[in-house]
Amino acid sequence: MRRFYLIALLLIGSLILVGFLAWQAHLAVSSHRETAESVLRDYANLASGEFVRRTLVEVGYYGYYPLISAIAAWHSDHPQDALTSLEDLPLPEDRAQARELVRYVFRFNAGDGVLETWGSDVTPDVTGALRTLLTSAVADAPTDGSYVTLFERIGDKTHSFVFTLADPGADPPRRLVGFEPELGVLGGWIERAVARGPLLPPSLTQEGFSNESIFLEVVLAPDDVLYVAGEPYEPWFGVEQPFGEEYRGMLAEVTARLAIDPEVAPQLVIGGLPRSRLPLLLGVLGVVAGLVAIAILQLGRERALIKLRSDFVSRVSHELRTPLTQIRMFAETLLLKRVRSPEESERALEIIDRESRRLSHLVENVLQFSRCEHDSIRLAPVPRRLRPLLTELVEEFKPLLDGSGASIATRFEDDSEVTVDGDAMRQIVLNLLENAVKYGPDRQEVWLGTSRRNGRVRVWVDDQGPGIRVADRERIWEPFQRVERDPASALTGTGIGLSVVRDLVSKHGGSAWAEDGERGGARFVVELPATDSPGGAA
Ligand code: ADP
Repeated sequence: MRRFYLIALLLIGSLILVGFLAWQAHLAVSSHRETAESVLRDYANLASGEFVRRTLVEVGYYGYYPLISAIAAWHSDHPQDALTSLEDLPLPEDRAQARELVRYVFRFNAGDGVLETWGSDVTPDVTGALRTLLTSAVADAPTDGSYVTLFERIGDKTHSFVFTLADPGADPPRRLVGFEPELGVLGGWIERAVARGPLLPPSLTQEGFSNESIFLEVVLAPDDVLYVAGEPYEPWFGVEQPFGEEYRGMLAEVTARLAIDPEVAPQLVIGGLPRSRLPLLLGVLGVVAGLVAIAILQLGRERALIKLRSDFVSRVSHELRTPLTQIRMFAETLLLKRVRSPEESERALEIIDRESRRLSHLVENVLQFSRCEHDSIRLAPVPRRLRPLLTELVEEFKPLLDGSGASIATRFEDDSEVTVDGDAMRQIVLNLLENAVKYGPDRQEVWLGTSRRNGRVRVWVDDQGPGIRVADRERIWEPFQRVERDPASALTGTGIGLSVVRDLVSKHGGSAWAEDGERGGARFVVELPATDSPGGAA
């Protein structure tokens, strides 16, 4: 009992330990993953910083700076003229591409409120908004010749205006010149900036890493995407970085979204991005828990079996004691010549004979059971006719009927030949007859019969007892299993008789079962393969 609890406790302890180890493994993997994720985000941060810097340089040095300088220079040469063509802007040769950034050039006179524009058409609401914007900006415009960028939402679009003081020396300053950039073409400029080299320093990445493994998106407003390269990665290890106020707020309202492809994690982080092992660990834990449960269940069964075995020993001792007491008593009676008549002495001898038969049958059963347990039954089957064999067995059994007043009738419908071991057959039939007499009422008539069906011969024993409930019909064939309806019942037994029957029958290639008898009692059937063609009816 104690051992059972100890082993169960050890098993549960092992399960808890396995669970603890699995949890630790999960924590280790999770923390490795968290570190890897934060490294990837740091790298995305680094790359986006580089990207923003490069884009600002590209657009600033090759676009906005030369443009605003050229517009200011053109104005100082032609303060009263109209700009007939963008070609008139004195841009250096290597900055000529900057012209594509101009939607229109404007000049504003804060003194009379005149706003002149040259280039693409400008709608009246944009002109109105620009005039208001410039009117209030003129006073704060820097006098060092640098430019100002303002963003303004007009209608459903965000506009950007780049301007500078036209006459830095005038007091008060009156005129502003500038342009509205064509933000739609920025994509090409950004692309050039990206193409200048990897956004992550090669010292941090392994060979083979390129900007292709980086997702990039530049947006002015959620619905106004200026540039996009690649597909947003899943999972997302990225950053969102506004261009901010650097370079005079040139792209202040623009935001860059950048993420690193999780697939290239192994090139950036030692050990890559480990996958969660939780499902695997839970699976392993489940299997271990299942094995422990099976082991404990098995342990419980073993414990029950040990209990059954120890009950069996005391039952066998009890079963042995009853006939032994009878034998001793009547033997003593005879020895001490306490009998009064020859009939009495014959009766005593009969009882001694009956009880010693019962005893030897019981011992035989126990021996046979032990052989079955160790799988050491040696059978010598020979073909024999059933009918003479059964008739002989009935005669042998008759002395055991004494006391119960029961009788045996035979119903042989078949006399086929079966290949059986005589001793085994004897054991089988005697066990069934003994049970029929034991569990049936006094003075009942027990039937022993044979029949044949589909090349198999049935030997059956039918009694007038209580029968066997359907629920118990399988269980009774298990070793040590007894159906005790009435705990106070005087019907004792060892619980091995039927298990010996089934073992011996199956060793002959047959089967055995219990069913309802013809007269309300139980019928035990043993079915064996017939050796010959159908035999004659009784
Ligand atoms: P035992 O008779 O020693 O208990 P068995 O293995 O021969 O062991 O039988 C197992 C159980 O099957 C019995 O305890 C009894 O409950 C039930 N049984 C066997 N034969 C009969 C029968 N003819 N009628 C009713 N119950 C029976």
